[in-house]
Amino acid sequence: PAVQEYKSALITGGSRGIGAAIATRLAADGIRVAITYNSSRTAADRVVEAITAAGGHAVALRADSADAARIRAAADATAEEYGRIDILVNNAGIGTSAPFEEMSLEHFDRTMAVNVRGPFAAAQAVLPHMPDHGRIINIGSVFADRTPFGTLSAYVTSKAAVAGLTRALARDLGGRGITVNNIQPGPISTDLTSSDTHVHDVMTEATALRRFGTPEEIAGLVAYLAGPEAAYITGATITADGGYTA
Ligand code: NDP
Repeated sequence: PAVQEYKSALITGGSRGIGAAIATRLAADGIRVAITYNSSRTAADRVVEAITAAGGHAVALRADSADAARIRAAADATAEEYGRIDILVNNAGIGTSAPFEEMSLEHFDRTMAVNVRGPFAAAQAVLPHMPDHGRIINIGSVFADRTPFGTLSAYVTSKAAVAGLTRALARDLGGRGITVNNIQPGPISTDLTSSDTHVHDVMTEATALRRFGTPEEIAGLVAYLAGPEAAYITGATITADGGYTA
């Protein structure tokens, strides 16, 4: 079949963690994927190689989510490669922390630039390439609803903004049948959460299921929201947190 008959997706931050799992899952579902990365080129190449080896289609594009021009270039390159962009997954994010008294405005600005301005710019960049009934899926955080401890002021502010952006964009784009949703993961085992064993123990205890989730468990929810059965879900924030907010 011609390229046009396949769906395609742009996933920001697809080199590691949840984004890599999302790219792998969507590719396994027959969707042609493009992933962005900022610094982990080797990891991004490995994701592409694994998808290709499994018979899928993938490309990796370097684009710092804080750089709107690079995001636009990545969206244009994806459309050039696949003909269109049916699905945007705004996954790239940085999990910054610092005591509030010591948190610099540079820290705050960088967090907001990657976690909020990035998704805003990516949505604008893909729209000219997105057919009606496309999908925008943001990866927020359940910390926007329940903040477990201090030091997270910039991160939590950014993820609360993602939830607001999701609702607003659902209104902006609903006329075209494009849905916009926000997945709020609880603690998921990735590089982001592997460094601090104390935090790991605290967060494990805080879930009802007494465990961290896997990137694949978030990817499955993305696949559902990207599929035809989810066509009536928009503007929603959907939590997958092992009962952390139960
Ligand atoms: P990881 O740190 O494991 O991976 C982050 C990914 O985002 C990498 O592929 C990284 O690529 C990319 N990335 C980071 N900064 C940028 C940037 N400036 N531009 C482009 N890409 C970038 O994180 P997770 O997989 O754990 O997190 C993914 C998303 O899920 C984030 O938005 C995070 O906030 C959210 N989340 C995670 C939770 C968890 O428990 N893990 C819980 C709730 C939400 P590179 O290495 O190349 O920079």
